[in-house]
Amino acid sequence: MSSIAELEKKIKILESELERERSKNERGRQKIAHMSSEVVDTNPYSRLMALKRMGIVDNYERIRDFAVAVVGVGGVGSVAAEMLTRCGIGKLLLFDYDKVELANMNRLFYQPHQAGLSKVEAAERTLKEINPDVEFEIYNYNITTVDNFQHFMDRISKGGLKECTPVDLVLSCVDNFEARMAINTACNELGQKWIESGVSENAVSGHIQFIIPGETSCFACAPPLVVATHTDEKTLKREGVCAASLPTTMAIVAGFLVQNTLKYLLHFGNVAYYLGYNALEDFFPTMVMKPNPQCDDNYCRQQQAEFQKREAAKPKQVVEERKEEAVTHDDNDWGIELVSETTEEESRLAEGDTPHLTEGVKFAYTKPVQSAQNDSGVTVEKTDQSLEELMQQMKGL
Ligand SMILES: [Zn+2]
Repeated sequence: MSSIAELEKKIKILESELERERSKNERGRQKIAHMSSEVVDTNPYSRLMALKRMGIVDNYERIRDFAVAVVGVGGVGSVAAEMLTRCGIGKLLLFDYDKVELANMNRLFYQPHQAGLSKVEAAERTLKEINPDVEFEIYNYNITTVDNFQHFMDRISKGGLKECTPVDLVLSCVDNFEARMAINTACNELGQKWIESGVSENAVSGHIQFIIPGETSCFACAPPLVVATHTDEKTLKREGVCAASLPTTMAIVAGFLVQNTLKYLLHFGNVAYYLGYNALEDFFPTMVMKPNPQCDDNYCRQQQAEFQKREAAKPKQVVEERKEEAVTHDDNDWGIELVSETTEEESRLAEGDTPHLTEGVKFAYTKPVQSAQNDSGVTVEKTDQSLEELMQQMKGL
């Protein structure tokens, strides 16, 4: 084949590819100025607006008035961002420094042809195609470096739907404690509400936690052991051992996260403060955790003081006491009794300043004492006696 014929053949192939791409773009939908509840096949919002008719949400269109920041657009964050986009959220701010890799393909959202692209860029392209009504801001950086942290603070405090207003909610979908602590620090300082999310390394459990600075426990109030002991988590990464992940668990946690976001923003149902998921047992613990007055985070303690002040200034509500009738069982032929499974040690740890824990949930550890010195004041006096003599004395007691 002559080189001209080869070139002509190549041009034909390229032309047909261009045609395909063009028709793809033409098929994409145009922006929609007003959300309508009209039930027609061409209305992308008809099923969402039906929530109004069903009496679940008073004013679904309000979804367009909100801006949400998603920090980390990996297995959980990308799916959460897609859900919010399909729901018609007003604006999304996406933060991530990673690139799409083929090793991510066990999860939802990203596709093999996007490998090598930055996650935020790939996400924005896909999401804009799904819903061009949503406004996007993307940042391809690590929020934990000093300069980026300042910029991150600036965007969550000024990147709302109207410039110079804060975002309505921050969703943490990061995979390391350092980034969680950075979000925690920023949100405590700004008084910004946020929802933390996490999936375990073995891929079979996860949780979400709604954090209202000063009102509910922050990430530093009851820190994971790695944070409490000031361990550098990078030293925990074992060579050649990679964390497991399942698309199922990640999508369930993303679903919890966005469901809670919708309930909070659109005022329906009960907003969860902590919702856990244990896939092996199908166990979903929920609870509310109060902030720790001795939290390491200075801004958390300040927010707690301000919250207490606001609460004290509120007019007192008279709560009518409801008397519960004592349950009596007349016939208990078999003498069945309920026995607590909690040990005395466990219930002692769950008392006092420590937050109240829901049934089935227990503390993994108690916070280590900062100083290595024994400051209890009780010391054993120095003695010249040998160990054998001391043992002899103990036996004689
Ligand atoms: Zn705190």
